[in-house]
Amino acid sequence: MRKTVTIARGDGIGPEIMQATLDVLSAAGAELDYEEIQIGRAVYERGIKSGIEPEAWDSLRRTKVFLKAPITTPQGGGFKSLNVTVRKTLGLFANVRPCVSYAPYVETRHPKMDLVIVRENEEDLYGGIEYRPTADVTEAVKLISRPGCERIVRYAFEYARAHGRKKVTCMTKDNIMKLSDGLFHKVFDEIAAEYPDIEKDHYIIDIGSARLANAPHIFDVIVTLNLYGDIISDIAAEITGSVGLGGSANIGAACSMFEAIHGSAPDIAGKGIANPSGLMLAAVMMLVHLGENGIAAKIHNAWLKTLEDGMHTGDLYRPNLSAHQCGTTEFARAVIDRLGQKPEKFAPVDYGESREGGMPVPEPKELPPPKKILVGIDAFVEWAGEEPEALAKLVQEHIDEDLVTLRAIDNRGVKVWPDGLPETFCTRHWRLRIVAADDVEITPQIIYESMGALVEAGLEVTAINSLFRYDGANGFSDMQGE
Ligand code: NAD
Repeated sequence: MRKTVTIARGDGIGPEIMQATLDVLSAAGAELDYEEIQIGRAVYERGIKSGIEPEAWDSLRRTKVFLKAPITTPQGGGFKSLNVTVRKTLGLFANVRPCVSYAPYVETRHPKMDLVIVRENEEDLYGGIEYRPTADVTEAVKLISRPGCERIVRYAFEYARAHGRKKVTCMTKDNIMKLSDGLFHKVFDEIAAEYPDIEKDHYIIDIGSARLANAPHIFDVIVTLNLYGDIISDIAAEITGSVGLGGSANIGAACSMFEAIHGSAPDIAGKGIANPSGLMLAAVMMLVHLGENGIAAKIHNAWLKTLEDGMHTGDLYRPNLSAHQCGTTEFARAVIDRLGQKPEKFAPVDYGESREGGMPVPEPKELPPPKKILVGIDAFVEWAGEEPEALAKLVQEHIDEDLVTLRAIDNRGVKVWPDGLPETFCTRHWRLRIVAADDVEITPQIIYESMGALVEAGLEVTAINSLFRYDGANGFSDMQGE
């Protein structure tokens, strides 16, 4: 049965690599029909800040599968990243990037690299929730949800199982962000226990990235949060030999998007020299998702044979390794000529049995709600003074100390009262930790009155965060030095 896919040719080298990819798909016998939508520069120039026409969503929601060429994102001017918009609007929670080296046919310092990065795609700092609470301070909110962690971590383990991979490595920074990254790590440990057949380990992201750059062969599947995944997947792609080689999948419960990892490469656009491999390998991932595993393997094997035959685009061409320098169309022709052949030096690819719709997307578990109690507030205030002692006195004079107590004050996360050090640099943005006095059960009314007291004290309250405990555990971090 023929299947319909939405495609977009994009900007820069996009139209060239898309045509090369469609030619290979057609020659391989993929029974696909295409609905074409416009995205990127032309749409931005019509004043549509998202870079995608409103009608295009109908096509994406109808076909549920999107093969996308790269676009040029305009800088500034309120333009939104199209990728972020599509990922969030269609709920594409998993970004999957295989990063493989093809030594000795592609020059790389890491000849044994073969790993997959599974990056959480919707949460973290990419919520774009930012504030400027005082003239001298800005902040960004890092949101991590338990269902979000569960979905991505389970997806990584399911992916490992479905693709015969042996190990899943989690990377977080939970030595610093104990609650948010800590939740990701905790969920990883819980879910890993359900997959005893798969090895698991955890790295702090800084040393994990360093190892990845220096010894990528020690990794198999890596699962991580959005920002870390964004950074390490570009590093991993680059050290395979060329950004032109990588394809990626963005998977959601209903829809999926497949694209090359590189951008629109305006520096080489229109010259006919771009490497179409990234989009071709993304199309291979799309075919597996559509249950066309046989055709996916046919294209992938022909592509590997082309590479080992030394047919290389300019980004890969090395006189000592390559037989011929190809343009984009010539490279696609070389792949087409090899359809049906298997690579001789590389291991041939076999995608096994088809599973239409890709891997099942795991549903997060419903947990019984924990016992939640309110124990205080963190009030963020703007105050132009310099002595934390004076601020503490001012607050204590105004709050009702029968009901609440000022426990501590910090500035940029460092406790400055009580017992602060004069060396700590302070801005005008102070955090007051106000908690229930002994034996007082705090209520929203008490919080409301405490806020009023701060305003009466002449402080500008820029934000209030409630402090909760869940089943007896703090739902807030300690201040540094508290
Ligand atoms: P880029 O990936 O477009 O280019 C980086 C370098 O790699 C350039 O020298 C380029 O010539 C080279 N390169 C990239 N793809 C290649 C290929 N297939 N074959 C040969 N060489 C290739 O990154 P950039 O220059 O930072 O970004 C250019 C534009 O692309 C920007 O507007 C950016 O916002 C956009 N972008 C889009 C996407 C996307 O649509 N998914 C992703 C990244 C960047």
